[in-house]
Amino acid sequence: MTTARLKGFSAMRLPRRSPPGLTRWAVWSLPGRVLALILLVELLVAGTLAAGVWRGLGPLPQSWLLILVVLTAAGIVSTEASLGVERVRRQSDESPHIDLSSVWTFAAAVLLPGPLAGVVAVVIYAHIYARVWRRSGVPPHRVVFTTATVVLAVQAAAAVIGLSDPPVLFRSTGGLVTVLLALLVYAAVNMVLVVGVIVLSGPNRRLSTFLQLIGRSDDAVLELATLSMGALAACTVASFGPAYAVLLLPPLIVLHRTVLVRQLEEAASTDGKTGLLNAAAWHVQARGVLRRIERAGGRATVLVLDLDHFKLVNDRYGHLVGDQVLAAVAAAVRGEVRDDDLVGRFGGEEFVVLLPGLDGEDGHPGAEAVAERIRQRVAALRVDIAAPVGPAVIDHLTVSIGGAMLPADGTDLAQLLKVADAAMYAAKHAGRNTIRMGPHAVPSPAGRSRPTPHHRP
Ligand code: GH3
Ligand code: MG
Ligand code: MG
Repeated sequence: MTTARLKGFSAMRLPRRSPPGLTRWAVWSLPGRVLALILLVELLVAGTLAAGVWRGLGPLPQSWLLILVVLTAAGIVSTEASLGVERVRRQSDESPHIDLSSVWTFAAAVLLPGPLAGVVAVVIYAHIYARVWRRSGVPPHRVVFTTATVVLAVQAAAAVIGLSDPPVLFRSTGGLVTVLLALLVYAAVNMVLVVGVIVLSGPNRRLSTFLQLIGRSDDAVLELATLSMGALAACTVASFGPAYAVLLLPPLIVLHRTVLVRQLEEAASTDGKTGLLNAAAWHVQARGVLRRIERAGGRATVLVLDLDHFKLVNDRYGHLVGDQVLAAVAAAVRGEVRDDDLVGRFGGEEFVVLLPGLDGEDGHPGAEAVAERIRQRVAALRVDIAAPVGPAVIDHLTVSIGGAMLPADGTDLAQLLKVADAAMYAAKHAGRNTIRMGPHAVPSPAGRSRPTPHHRP
């Protein structure tokens, strides 16, 4: 999960290997609970905007109109200015556009009544859609929902600001507290809705998953940095006049570039086919984790996984289908371990997993149980593919797994990998689709057969 996920539903990373049609799925294909939340938010926004327009019918003060125009223009200019960064990002990675527009939408929430601030948000996001998201294939319903969440956050923040007298807003401690409260309310509304939809759409619809995503510190820090700049923008515009908003543009572009650096770092450590850590990044991170565990006298297990007879998949269906299967297996392995466990693609059709702190009575069973879960999950995997002769399902995939444990089988990563790799080959020799742990692996009862991957049309 990336920063952008918290910045907006539209910015969610699209499935890496999905056929082009999937990225344009109709809103009606969403799960009912997600659809219900999306429709509720959109109706709420439409209702509050309509009520605001109804109440505010009549000529608007010119100062409001000027602020509305300046903040909207600043939002459009900063999106345009970020397009250069956007091009670099697109060449290097599939990661999503990061929008820092909350600088301007939050400033609007502070300086304007809710419905007018909502108009600023709608125009800025319509422009982002036209210039960025449409080209990246983000479906319109996601854009509508993202915009709706921002408009709702803007309305909520504007309502908090309304509690304070405008003349003292930037001149008293009470005013500062109100602005900070509005900032927190804005962030909370936006994050709760976006993360809510992500969690409701995913397989782990647990409160803990929700809280984990909400609490991701780097996402939260970026959001707070953006909103703080929004508060400064509001303060500057209110104190010196709308033209001074121009001073906020350069630091905003610099902030955008720092986000790009983070995306590039992430891209450099990710395996493009599976989305797992690549071998180099896995080594670096695993070494660090093992060092910490060893110092603390803890335990950990390294698993090496190798798909059985994978060459047959390539020979029968071609490498592109093979790649789809690799991505499905990677997702299956990732799905069977904890978020803190390190899963990497070692090379070809081999994966590595570091499981910190799993210990059983005699050393291995805790981690072996995880390995067994992975083995079973891969064996039960069904991958839908578009074969030349029509859609088909590949199943009967199996994996051989070898494991080594810290400290019993080695004290550094190289030793553990050597033992786990040898244990994996022992599993291959024992008939594949099975697990072997440690240097003196005894045969485990699981999977003596030699199933080979095959497909059903
Ligand atoms: P075994 O059970 O002994 O592991 O048999 P195997 O066929 O899996 O093993 P082998 O090492 O003979 O072949 C591994 C195959 O994995 C060969 C290669 O075609 C395939 N492979 C490696 N990397 C990729 C990849 O990135 N994409 C695809 N589609 N196939 C890959
Ligand atoms: Mg291999
Ligand atoms: Mg293999």
